[in-house]
Amino acid sequence: MRNLVRLIYISRSTSDINDTVEFEPGIALILAKSRNNNRQNGLGGVLYFGNGCFFQCLEGPAEKVDALYQKLHQDPRHKDLKMLSRQKIERPAFAKWDMKYVKLDSQINGFLASHGYTKFDPYAMDDKTTEDLIRFLKLAPPADQEELADEAAELLAPKHERMLRFAVAVSMLSLLVALWALAVALKIL
Ligand code: FAD
Repeated sequence: MRNLVRLIYISRSTSDINDTVEFEPGIALILAKSRNNNRQNGLGGVLYFGNGCFFQCLEGPAEKVDALYQKLHQDPRHKDLKMLSRQKIERPAFAKWDMKYVKLDSQINGFLASHGYTKFDPYAMDDKTTEDLIRFLKLAPPADQEELADEAAELLAPKHERMLRFAVAVSMLSLLVALWALAVALKIL
């Protein structure tokens, strides 16, 4: 692949995303859409969310990365976008990820402490910490892909599919209750 770039930017969430829960619906939706789009566009990277801020690294063909960065500016789910770096690369660091997602955990807190930070504030990070964070995120274990994918698929399923699943579940439950009532009635007779 030629003309590959890595673009790193940060932004602030416009909603209250709870980064302490295991699977946050807002993040799951962003990831599901990102992974689908990025796969089609030959893009990859990593997303990290903590303390109300996104930190994202996008890798791929320059024109695709730049087009996505423009699109990201229109997304009302975040604001204050700031590009930290955009550089040519020989090969992607996150080649096997359409969009890796790493969750806040004790390891990240350890990383921040080792760089002299008490909390995740990407707007205050220097260039060295940004580069180190990319290396750290490359090695960090991803959030559970399978569960996150299930969660996202559930969230993205069209409403009528969810209603259909609900109706099937209710029907099954009714059938079980009817069978139980029949069994009880037969015992009484
Ligand atoms: P659609 O999904 O049809 O969206 C059309 C429009 O609606 C877009 O302007 C979109 O911004 C807006 N929109 C969609 N869903 C919502 C919602 N739930 N709330 C408010 N507005 C909404 N996209 C990628 O393709 N790759 C990425 O790596 C990527 N990373 C992201 C990281 C962050 C932190 C955020 C906030 C968004 C990210 N997105 C990413 C989403 C991106 O901003 C666009 O929403 C998405 O690319 C649009 O996809 P689409 O062209 O298929 O249009």
